[in-house]
Amino acid sequence: MRKALPIGHKDDDMVDAAYNDFKVYYITHIDTYTKPFPGIQDLLAKLHHEGVMLAVASNKFQEGTEHLIKEFFPEIPFVAVLGGRPDFPLKPDPEIVGEVLRKAGIEKEDAVMIGDSDTDMATAANGGIIGIAVNWGYRDMRDIINWGIGPSTGSGTEPWKVVRHYCMSRIHGKGTKPELKVRQWLWRHGYRYRLNVKSVPGKPDIVMRRYRTAIFVNGCFWHGHFVEFSVEKCEAFDGVNLEFREESSQCCKIPQTNREFWVNKIKRNQERDQKNYQVLHDNGWQVIVIWECQLTPKRIEETMLRVELLLNEHFLALHQPKVIPYNVQEMPISIAAEEEEHYEKR
Ligand SMILES: [Zn+2]
Repeated sequence: MRKALPIGHKDDDMVDAAYNDFKVYYITHIDTYTKPFPGIQDLLAKLHHEGVMLAVASNKFQEGTEHLIKEFFPEIPFVAVLGGRPDFPLKPDPEIVGEVLRKAGIEKEDAVMIGDSDTDMATAANGGIIGIAVNWGYRDMRDIINWGIGPSTGSGTEPWKVVRHYCMSRIHGKGTKPELKVRQWLWRHGYRYRLNVKSVPGKPDIVMRRYRTAIFVNGCFWHGHFVEFSVEKCEAFDGVNLEFREESSQCCKIPQTNREFWVNKIKRNQERDQKNYQVLHDNGWQVIVIWECQLTPKRIEETMLRVELLLNEHFLALHQPKVIPYNVQEMPISIAAEEEEHYEKR
C-alpha cells in the first residue's frame, strides 16, 4: 500500500486510510478480477465429498479472504478460513498451520498444504507438514518445483489430479508416516531430493541425485527387519529344502496364525529388496535403508545423523579428485541400521 501512494503522501495515517478504502472497494468488487483457476471448485468439492477436511490459509486480509471463499466456494464447509489479521504473523510463519491443525483436531502427519508459491512451501516446511507445490498460480513451475516436499505436479499434468490422488492415498493410509519423518528431517537440514523416481530401479522412497543415493524407508514387518531365514536340509525331499526356519525379532513378530503365508511373504519381500539394492549398487548408487523402528522420537535424531554422515561420505567419495592416488574402498550396501541388538532381559 505504501508503495502505491504518491511521494509525499506515504505517512502512516495516509497508508491506513488508503488501506481501509481499498478493503471496502475490494470487497464490493471482489469478483471483477478474481476467479478460481479452472478445476479448483471441482477439486474441492470432490475432496470434501471424500471426507477430506479443508481449510484456507491466506495472507490476504481476513475480511477479503472470507468474502472470496463465500463467493466462490459457498458449498464447502471449511474447518477454518484464515487470512491476515492484526497481531497474527503472516506466512511463512508456521502459526497458521498450527491454528488449522488445532481447529481440525488432527496431527501434522495427516495434513498437507497445497500452495503455488515458495512462501506456501516454506510455511509447510516450517509447520512440519507436507507441502504440495502446484503450478496453477502465477509462479513458473521451475521456480517452485524444488520447494515441494510432497509430490509436485509435473508440467503438463493437471495439478488437481495429482493433488486429489495424493490426498486420497493419504486418507487411505498409503502414505507411510516413517517416510514422511525422514523427508521432513532432510528438508529441515537443507537437503533436497526427489520422490518415487520411476527411472531409478526399485523405486526408492527418496532419491538424492546430488549424492547419488537412494533411500528406502522400510516397515519392519513387511521387510522383515532382523528376521533371519535359514535353510534346513531335509533328506526326505532328496536334499531339496522346502522348509524355512524363521526367527521373529523384537520389532516384528510373525503371527502364529497363517504363519507359513507370512513367512513366505516376508521372505519374498526381502529377496526383492536385496535384488533392488544390488542393481542400484552395481550402478554406482549408494543405498541407505532406514527401518521404521529407527524413527521413533527417541531414535530418529541418531538415525538421521548416521544417514547424513553416509550421504556426505558418499558425496566426498564421488568428488574425490582423480589425481590423488587414494583408493576409495567400495562400500557394501550401506545399511543405516545399528548393530544387531539382543533383547534378552538383563
Ligand atoms: Zn525394526
